Amino acid sequence: KTVSTYANEPFTDFNLEVNQKSLQAAISKVKSELGREYPLHIGAEKVVTEAKITSINPGNVDEIIGYVSKADQVLAEKAMNVALETFELWKKVPARERAEYLLKAAALMRERKHEFSALMILESGKNYVEADVDTAEAIDFIEFYAREMIRLSEINETQPLVRIPGENNRISYIPLGVGVVIPPWNFPLAICVGMTTAAVVSGNTVLLKPASTTPVIAHKFIALMEEVGLPAGVINFIPGSGAEVGDYLTTHPKTRFISFTGSKEVGLRINRLAADTAPGQIWIKRVVAEMGGKDGIVVDETADLDAAAAAIVASAFGFQGQKCSAGSRAIIVESVYEEVVAKVVALTGKLQSGLPELNFAAGPVIDKASYERILDYIEIGKQEGTLLAGGSKAEGNGYYLQPTVFGDVSGKARLMQEEIFGPVLAIAKAKDWQEAIAMYNDTEFGLTGSYFSADEQRIAEALDTVRCGNLYINRKCTGALVGVHPFGGFNMSGTDSKAGGYDYLLLFTQAKLTSRKV
Ligand code: GLU
Repeated sequence: KTVSTYANEPFTDFNLEVNQKSLQAAISKVKSELGREYPLHIGAEKVVTEAKITSINPGNVDEIIGYVSKADQVLAEKAMNVALETFELWKKVPARERAEYLLKAAALMRERKHEFSALMILESGKNYVEADVDTAEAIDFIEFYAREMIRLSEINETQPLVRIPGENNRISYIPLGVGVVIPPWNFPLAICVGMTTAAVVSGNTVLLKPASTTPVIAHKFIALMEEVGLPAGVINFIPGSGAEVGDYLTTHPKTRFISFTGSKEVGLRINRLAADTAPGQIWIKRVVAEMGGKDGIVVDETADLDAAAAAIVASAFGFQGQKCSAGSRAIIVESVYEEVVAKVVALTGKLQSGLPELNFAAGPVIDKASYERILDYIEIGKQEGTLLAGGSKAEGNGYYLQPTVFGDVSGKARLMQEEIFGPVLAIAKAKDWQEAIAMYNDTEFGLTGSYFSADEQRIAEALDTVRCGNLYINRKCTGALVGVHPFGGFNMSGTDSKAGGYDYLLLFTQAKLTSRKV
């Protein structure tokens, strides 16, 4: 049976009232189901624990999304044993069959996409477009990785090895073992789904520890995989604290790989812990880490300045700047600096804060800790630059902050160097385009970047010299599409593991060459 060619899931057009209405109906449905309890899934067993993670709506902190059971080390060990046992069976399931489970899940998620988006709107504070894009990306990841696994399993036919007489040689990409998957809360569906399905379709079994602020949407995905008949124990759902469950599993001798997306600090810690070999461990653990960014947009004097300003604002403030890809820096050439800054400030002023379920452009940040950290950075910004927009809390029963812009920030300032992960944009002035690119490159990160220019020669040089994993010309630096813009960055942004790209599944497999004398 042939599988159709991969194509990106289209985004919903919320300019059409009918689409607004159907998402709102989904929000009402999800609201009627709030406050439920969700168990751990360890093999076929649903485990309810006394300890719970309480998931709340960051845009209305009195609204409880759900109570999610919480694993401890004993339960994590139990889940590890189940995952190890299940691996022995799952690795023998043919690649195509594994892919079939994914394709079924994608079809169901597509049917119910507004329900998934609605839950994210309430649990993570995304507005309609941001939630819809997240769900679309989740569907894309599933569809893409399913096809990728089929491609890898047929590689001897499509891309045969060099032949020599007297031998029959084949290469196969076999799974690694049990992996710990630790996704972030900022793409609480897409990245959770992408990381998990990539590992699983490759033949591994997984211990999924969802982000503690968004465990309910993660559970909705788990329930979907159960519904499509994925064998129990292939994905084990074990929410819990990083310090307890995360560290325990990272250092566990039977953990074969860790797939992590989150902050630089946590990523480096995982990398360090995973580098040690525990007694009885017979492999080098593989770490796939997608970490932070201090992404930026460079604008020269030849650029379309309206387009550049719009891209700066979209990249800085989409989902309140809580993307690794967020353009939290803008570096603008002196001669057009004032003009671009004026446009950016004007566009920022139009972003109204309010409840995600009412689809305001600017919503809350994820939790109290983030809120306070960002407020601290805003105070630092007041020392380091000129406050041009925002600069304080915003109204609402949640973690609302005004979209904030600082100008005249120097390249070495903390605001230009440290990932804030919130709605704070720092703008710097450069004397010319070369200096602007040099300032862009002056960072320990290297995830996304944009260069705005109309000059072909400069663009050619920028393509070569701007140092980041995802470089965009004359467009925003967020919104990578699965299969179209494989996503991942350099240096402290992680292991440059390109999610949604043709090499991603290789990270969850090992290649076995068999050579037979004939
Ligand atoms: N892939 C997303 C984008 O291109 C960002 C993912 C992330 O924030 O981790 O905007």
